[in-house]
Amino acid sequence: MDCIFCKIVSGEIPSKKVYEDEKILAFYDLNPQAKVHVLVIPKKHISCVDEIDSSNSETVAYIFEKIPVIAKSLGLSNGYRVITNCGDDACQSVKHLHFHVLGGEKLSERMA
Ligand code: 5GP
Ligand code: ZN
Repeated sequence: MDCIFCKIVSGEIPSKKVYEDEKILAFYDLNPQAKVHVLVIPKKHISCVDEIDSSNSETVAYIFEKIPVIAKSLGLSNGYRVITNCGDDACQSVKHLHFHVLGGEKLSERMA
């Protein structure tokens, strides 16, 4: 499968990792939209939120257990935003489920 994030998981494409275990990976976004901008992904390919079901929701729950740990390690003590885009209307550009963790500064009140 020609998926950039699967290639980041395999190491074929390099990334600046901030957290990794057997199930998930977190790395800095190539084109940061905040002072701190990290992406958290499942290692196993899921295309987007629309594909979450009982067979893979455990990994998604696990990601949300780890996001606070990752945020803490990044020094995001004053809050952060978690965003996921799903599909064309949301302008999802990489079709591998990922959660943007944004912070390190006061973010816009707008979300869309
Ligand atoms: P989306 O628009 O799908 O929600 O977000 C995709 C994100 O992946 C974008 O913020 C983009 O900057 C980031 N991205 C795309 N390709 C790469 C890459 O090769 N490495 C890293 N670190 N980030 C990438
Ligand atoms: Zn993938």
